[in-house]
Amino acid sequence: MRKNDDEERFVSPEENSDDNGELSLRPKRLREMIGQPKAKQNLGIAIEAAKGRNEALDHVLLYGPPGLGKTTLSNIIANEMDVPVRITSGPAIEKPGDLAAILTSLEKNSVFFIDEIHRLNRTVEEILYPAMEDYKLDIIIGRGPSARTLRLDLPKFTLVGATTRAGMLSAPLRDRFGILHGFELYSVEELDTIIRRSAEILAIPIAAEGSLEIAMRSRGTPRIANRMLKRVRDYAQVRAGGNITREVADAALKMHEIDALGLDDLDRRFLRAIIEKFEGGPVGLETLAAMLGQERDTLEDVVEPYLMQLGFLNRTNRGRLATRSAYEHLGVGFLFRERMENGHLSQNTLFGLTPPEDRQSYGSDV
Ligand code: ADP
Repeated sequence: MRKNDDEERFVSPEENSDDNGELSLRPKRLREMIGQPKAKQNLGIAIEAAKGRNEALDHVLLYGPPGLGKTTLSNIIANEMDVPVRITSGPAIEKPGDLAAILTSLEKNSVFFIDEIHRLNRTVEEILYPAMEDYKLDIIIGRGPSARTLRLDLPKFTLVGATTRAGMLSAPLRDRFGILHGFELYSVEELDTIIRRSAEILAIPIAAEGSLEIAMRSRGTPRIANRMLKRVRDYAQVRAGGNITREVADAALKMHEIDALGLDDLDRRFLRAIIEKFEGGPVGLETLAAMLGQERDTLEDVVEPYLMQLGFLNRTNRGRLATRSAYEHLGVGFLFRERMENGHLSQNTLFGLTPPEDRQSYGSDV
């Protein structure tokens, strides 16, 4: 099987070496953060109230696809609370002792950020329950019948957990978060604003249509928008006198094989596999993953959300279905009509709609 080549994928929402210097592009305050109005409003009030009482903010769970601002928002929370932030990730905490060491060294009211919190191992997770609920650490001393538990007081802190898979969190862990926010892909207008803000910070000359062109292709994801801006800047500098116009953005992104809607080669191969090999579906994700030489998780986390947002893909419990719009986008609308006439296509495919409950179930194991 071919190795997962997502690292080299230009439109991957995961962080890569191309994103160096992202730090300066990260908004630092709630008011600088673009989009996510509900999160900004709810968190703004909760933060002000917690600060007023001189208490730690309630624990916060942030979930949604990569590159949408979960890490950014956790840093913003710490800035707004005026407290330090400690950053780690689920797989980095191997033993209960690793977690105990961090918890006992936290400053009062500070933010403790755990990325990929769904990947915490079970024994570590169990230490978190009393820590989150009562700010207590239970340490077991000794073994066998003489073992006893020692309870230590911890400083009050705010756990901010981030995950692409809210569905994979155990119920006891999920229930201990007081504030939950699910990130959805950003609108083109929001991405346009993010690109113009980044261009200003990086002093990149950009025309309004140039920014809009990049926004339309950045798959609802700020991280991709910023990365595209940088690559288009390079192209503009070398081939077009530095200024990013619509034509320059279009030519630069075409060179990277990104089409007008932001689809790249993997997206197109994914849709083509469903359409050409499985008559439009339904086909199971495992089968598609094996066929494309990709990890199942990559397809589920980074390919499907955007195709679903475009209305090109339906997830059903029988498998994945390509919609009429997908056929048309790939220029094989005639195949769709032929199959419809032969009665080979299901109702879901005909309507080309993603049922609303399906959108919300992002991350669930359909
Ligand atoms: P995640 O943790 O969800 O993978 P990040 O917080 O690392 O995503 O965000 C990726 C990049 O996108 C950040 O470096 C930041 O520059 C940019 N970004 C994310 N959300 C926003 C936003 N709401 N406004 C402006 N820039 C954003």
